[in-house]
Amino acid sequence: MYGNIRVELNHNGKTMPNLEENLGFGKHFTAHMFMMDYEEGTGWHDPRIIPYGPISHDPAAMVFHYGQAVFEGMKAFRTESDEVVLFRPDQNAKRLNRSSERLSIPQIDEEFVVAAIQQLVRIDAAWVPKKKGSSLYIRPFVIATEAILGVRPAMQYSFIIIMSPVDAYYEEGLQPVNILVESYFSRSVRGGTGDAKAAGNYAGSLKAQTLAKEHNCAQVLWLDAIEKKYLEEVGSMNVFFKINGEVVTPSLSGSILEGITRGSIIHLLKDWGIPVTERKISIDDIVEAHANGSLEEAFGTGTAAVVSPIGSLLWNGTPMVINQGKTGELVEKLYATITGIQSGKLPDTYGWLLKV
Ligand SMILES: *Cc1c(COP(=O)(O)O)cnc(C)c1O
Repeated sequence: MYGNIRVELNHNGKTMPNLEENLGFGKHFTAHMFMMDYEEGTGWHDPRIIPYGPISHDPAAMVFHYGQAVFEGMKAFRTESDEVVLFRPDQNAKRLNRSSERLSIPQIDEEFVVAAIQQLVRIDAAWVPKKKGSSLYIRPFVIATEAILGVRPAMQYSFIIIMSPVDAYYEEGLQPVNILVESYFSRSVRGGTGDAKAAGNYAGSLKAQTLAKEHNCAQVLWLDAIEKKYLEEVGSMNVFFKINGEVVTPSLSGSILEGITRGSIIHLLKDWGIPVTERKISIDDIVEAHANGSLEEAFGTGTAAVVSPIGSLLWNGTPMVINQGKTGELVEKLYATITGIQSGKLPDTYGWLLKV
């Protein structure tokens, strides 16, 4: 498929940071990257693993003007027995194609994507940190590279994979965050690009996030764009609530990104016999559950943090404190289970890990 991956190994003098120390998130990049190009007529070609470094593009490259770009986010882990594993990479490859389809970007063979990630991780395996909770964050992305100012799908693209050793999101255990319920700005709307991992979705969300920070909130809880009533996501995470023993999460309405962590959590909850429902959830449902004491837990889910407990929701200027602002039992158990599987501490009973 697309020809053999050409490998050009050279660290270009790049030195590895001390992987035992503060890595932060997305600050350090490994020695190599994967690249492959697309041209209408030829298709995807020239897959290569080359030294990490700047790429140069014509200033008229369409990605700079019309934002034709999609990306993925996933992680490789070093297990307790010193193996390097990926968590559900087939799901990321599938979603990359779903996002691409929405943005009129050509598809890439999913098995090839996983194999390319495996080979790149193998080459830079020394960069997968060992420290508890740390991982190698993997960022595959596709950009339109054709140099033309006409508005239409590009005829040239690059598919690139870069990797970054990162710390655990929570160094000292889960920390509940304050969230602002966003009543004016929208992230996406049904029929738009909210269910694709499109770069532009993020550009449009920054302003609300900045304003939330001024209210001492880490992120916003997005409401649907039409009625400003139904919950969608929290920042760039999916959102879950535990109400009176039942777990609920917004159903995929066309404006919500289908998180792989979301899917894994629904799977675990069903397996544990905890009732879990995907449905429309209005902000009024949450206000009511909070008022009558049945709102037990709230949390966001995503690859970067796995889970992020919500300590309070700021709505109409009034904070609704959840579980006394503390990390709930269920979110703690979900975190322990998923990170336990990823680190090899718990058995991989669902077949979620792929060795590189
Ligand atoms: C990536 C992303 C998520 C989380 O997806 P995971 O696959 O769980 O990492 C949720 N919402 C948005 C908007 C995202 O971009």
